[in-house]
Amino acid sequence: MTMDTAELTRLDRAHLIHPYLPGDAAERVIMASGSGCRLTDTEGRGYLDATGGLWLAQVGHGRTELADVAHAQMSKLEYFTSFWEFSNERAIELAARLAALAPDPLNHVYFTSGGSEGNEAAIKMARYHHHRRGESSRTWILARSKAYHGIGYGGGSATGFPLYHEGFAPMMPHVSHLTPPWPYRTDLYGGEDPTDFLIRELEERIAEIGPENIAAMIGEPIMGVGGMLVPPADYWPRVREVLDRHGILLIFDEVVTAYGRMGEWFAAQHFGVTPDIIVTAKGITSGYVPLGALLVGDHVAETLLRDHGFPMGYTYNGHPVATAVATANLDIIEKEGMLARATERGAFLHAELEAHLGDLPIVGEIRSVGMMLAVELVQDRTTRTPLPLHPDRMPHDVIRRETGVIVRDSAHSLVMSPPLVMTESEAKEVATALRGVLERTAPTGEIRTA
Ligand code: PMP
Repeated sequence: MTMDTAELTRLDRAHLIHPYLPGDAAERVIMASGSGCRLTDTEGRGYLDATGGLWLAQVGHGRTELADVAHAQMSKLEYFTSFWEFSNERAIELAARLAALAPDPLNHVYFTSGGSEGNEAAIKMARYHHHRRGESSRTWILARSKAYHGIGYGGGSATGFPLYHEGFAPMMPHVSHLTPPWPYRTDLYGGEDPTDFLIRELEERIAEIGPENIAAMIGEPIMGVGGMLVPPADYWPRVREVLDRHGILLIFDEVVTAYGRMGEWFAAQHFGVTPDIIVTAKGITSGYVPLGALLVGDHVAETLLRDHGFPMGYTYNGHPVATAVATANLDIIEKEGMLARATERGAFLHAELEAHLGDLPIVGEIRSVGMMLAVELVQDRTTRTPLPLHPDRMPHDVIRRETGVIVRDSAHSLVMSPPLVMTESEAKEVATALRGVLERTAPTGEIRTA
């Protein structure tokens, strides 16, 4: 049965609940196929995917070799549990591979089906680790405003946007939010050096709560949903030093930043710090099937694995098809030199954005690390007041409708995380599309029609 777009749209509106889409919204973009950075909808219209789906399509769309791997594994063994003594070949292979790629001593792997599940597991692991060591009072989780850690109640509580809490209360208690590292917003630090301010705040917060009550600090190495906020180079090493002094674990939420997006396997390597737990998902399979993986330090795994083991499991822990596809995806990343490519292509796209947008008064800052980029929009470059946004006419929507280039808005920034295979001509196309709309955007946020 083939349905036309009108019928698909009618059924979608009648039956599908979309995150963040009002029930009365009429428009649907129904994607039908993809190849590399290109997508085609059911009307045959083409798109250029500069968001990598939802920040995950590392190897690009349409890789039939990954489909072949899934087919072969599903035909051989589609699923069996990894609870208790049961295991499977594909989960074991991938766990060993990840342990080899991750910094020492992160030698243990716990699989999930995505990032939110991963952060729930990480928070529970941190609390449980301390509990097993006789420090059950360590229940607090330090997080940051503007953080995004998924939609579970643990990670969702660590998330630092009121929007994600409003109407869902009560959230998990014992979460404390710190100021985010966002050097462009100098006003956050009252003229002080951002890292000095943030470290002092961290020390003060630890003293207020009591170090003996704190289990972990969770943070995205670069805050994605917050607007690709890149911290100063000394921020994470100094945070790590403070946490070590107080016996507080560091959880890196690398759901976006891992697997090549920043030009390294993990952002931990970029920042030169070793977290106790790294949460990953998304790019581990480039989105071909759902999977997440926590990389866990020897010292944490040792306590979790005592006695009756770690009492928390997901049905899909170590799913054979998902782990098989992940291994094949990592093979492609490695074989095609995508870590180096992410650094080169990211620098190229950054330079194109500078060249096309640098002179526009509403462009406050263009920032990037590897293939994570943001263009922060302001009303006024001197005051850095954020550009007012009009929900029914947002720059990213206009860009998509007029040019087919897909970027995303995130806290007054246009953010991009393209497939790592984006070509130079595609990068130019993205920059040109942004220019075409942003040069018609007034400091009031109004966008003139072309
Ligand atoms: N952490 C971060 C940093 C994320 O960006 C996301 C998703 N965008 C998540 C966690 C949640 O992952 P998932 O949507 O796979 O549950």
